[in-house]
Amino acid sequence: MKKTILFMLGLSMTVASCSGRKEKEETKENGFEYAVDRFADLQILRYQVPGFNALTLKQKQLLYHLSEAALMGRDILFDQNCRYNLAIRRTMEAIYTHYKGDRSAAEFKALETYLKRVWFSNGIHHHYAEDKFKPEFTPAFFVACVKALPSEAVSFLAEQTVDDFLKEITPVIFDPEVLPKRTVQSGDEDLIRASANHYYAGDLTQKEVEDFYTGMKDPNDSTPISYGLNSRLVKEDGVIKEKVWKVGGLYTEAIERIVAELEKAVPFVENDKQKAVIESLIDYYRTGDLRTFDTYAVLWVEDTNSDVDFVNGFTETYGDPLGMKASWESTVNFINKEATKRTKIISDNAQWFEDHSPIDNRFRKKEVKGVSAKVITVTMLGGDCYPSTPIGINLPNADWIRKDHGSKSVTIENITEAYDKASQGNGFSEEFVWSDAERELLKTYGFTTDNLHTDLHECLGHGSGITLPGVEPDALKAYASTLEEARADLFGLYYIADTKLVELGLLPDAEAYKAEYYKFMMNGLQTQLVRIELGKNIEEAHMRNRQLIARWVFEKGKAEKIVELKQHDGKTYVVINDYEKLRRLFGELLKEVQRIKSEGDLDAGKKLVETYAVKVDQVLHREVLERYAKLDLAPYKGFVNPVMREVKNEKGEVVDITLDYSEGYANQMLRYSKTYSFLPTYNN
Ligand code: ZN
Repeated sequence: MKKTILFMLGLSMTVASCSGRKEKEETKENGFEYAVDRFADLQILRYQVPGFNALTLKQKQLLYHLSEAALMGRDILFDQNCRYNLAIRRTMEAIYTHYKGDRSAAEFKALETYLKRVWFSNGIHHHYAEDKFKPEFTPAFFVACVKALPSEAVSFLAEQTVDDFLKEITPVIFDPEVLPKRTVQSGDEDLIRASANHYYAGDLTQKEVEDFYTGMKDPNDSTPISYGLNSRLVKEDGVIKEKVWKVGGLYTEAIERIVAELEKAVPFVENDKQKAVIESLIDYYRTGDLRTFDTYAVLWVEDTNSDVDFVNGFTETYGDPLGMKASWESTVNFINKEATKRTKIISDNAQWFEDHSPIDNRFRKKEVKGVSAKVITVTMLGGDCYPSTPIGINLPNADWIRKDHGSKSVTIENITEAYDKASQGNGFSEEFVWSDAERELLKTYGFTTDNLHTDLHECLGHGSGITLPGVEPDALKAYASTLEEARADLFGLYYIADTKLVELGLLPDAEAYKAEYYKFMMNGLQTQLVRIELGKNIEEAHMRNRQLIARWVFEKGKAEKIVELKQHDGKTYVVINDYEKLRRLFGELLKEVQRIKSEGDLDAGKKLVETYAVKVDQVLHREVLERYAKLDLAPYKGFVNPVMREVKNEKGEVVDITLDYSEGYANQMLRYSKTYSFLPTYNN
């Protein structure tokens, strides 16, 4: 639950458009083209990997094999997101590749856009909004396209006939009532049955799932495993059981490939600790044993001296309504030593921050352990980090490991930089920011305060505080992710205004924090709504968290007019009248959210989320959408990876690893589907 996805940056500074020549020129710097593609509500960018050429050959080879491993698990995520995703992706790709008709005709274009969205979301549901895409082509067109495919193009159907396949799959694509939402995480429905994802199968009820895992847990275990993390729970012939994702288990075809690449990486490790990390991960993939996963996680968090690092596995649980089952993801990276000086200052002072945070003493960490933070440069994104990628990560997620061994936080600066570069001059702040004073703040400090807020969120926020003994790790149920993100954001917001940061040299002066405050409030109250369709609620945890915070402080400060929504020329703007009092409100809310987490107060947590985070002000929403539409920008971004290649001499020895930045979005996706696709179409 510890991932930061780019947010207000995505709006005020870093939303860019590449539709048209003008914007293209603006996104180009030193000949590097950041903008790659644009469709639906998405823009595809490219990131650079500065510093790669200065690495040793051995380090590059290590990165190469870890990067290959990062791509091997792509199909797993598709299947996790919905049981029909691989079938639909493969069908659409077959049509896209073999279509003989007019490729510029509207229906084919609509199918192309649909496929591009499926690639982007790793499935048929929106990666943020969670609802199923509505195709802009007709069922008749789809059926005709499939029937026109040569038989070898539909070999992935295995024993199914094309007619049976069409009968099954057409409603999945076209009927809005069938599998409407990937994950449902609020409301009074049965969350398991209402969710389309494939973490559960066999018509289980939420109660059956909850009972199954409650029965497994030992309340006196102080080092509990992450129950349910790496398996699908199924009911077959009335028996409820876990199908574990491991070599020899579910998804073995992909996991074996991941393991093989990890094995190839071992000879190139930088040190013994790193070797132990990779070997324990291999061991875990082989056994599926969650105790081994914890061993791996501890080794990983304690490996702080290697330059090269990675995440590879079943990691984040945002997609499971009950917050147990993890999606597969990978990032591969190396340290940015210069920028890490900044995060080192933060982690060196972690105890000071913990001691001074505005929370109840009972929930404070007496001794902050093993907080490590660094700024990294990614070389490959995979699974749930691709193409939509976090800008910061803090792991591991198990609370007891964080308490006893600490956590590792990263800020991914080659990603934030690409966002920033791609957004310059897009007209966004002219439209939504109240006045030149705020615009000047954002321009002067925005990039610095954004990165710093991410550092604070990841490195300190998620790691701070304790859960009282006896409180279940999943006590906050479907509200846990939102509240956890709120806690981390509030920690960052509270401290970014502290004079300590200026003293530590992290901010240039005592004005800088105002840039972050303005951006956060504008985004949380208003501009993040550009990502939501009119009439819909907010679903995604980070977005819920931001509105929760912004709405809560807005309401609490209403009498004193600390923050206002002001009208000017028929448009609504966020105006902050008192930054110091706003900071105090952030502190108050942090105190309450920490209490909720520490005590596992589900009722209070539920009330906070349902009151402030989910529902959208319809009038304001309509206005924001209209204003945003005029800017012609894409509210969501993602990235293509560079192409990494081994260069061999005539003896077949690897003499270098190169990066190529020329691959387009569709080409990359098609190549991945060809080269890195190992799972059967249906994985039962
Ligand atoms: Zn987070």
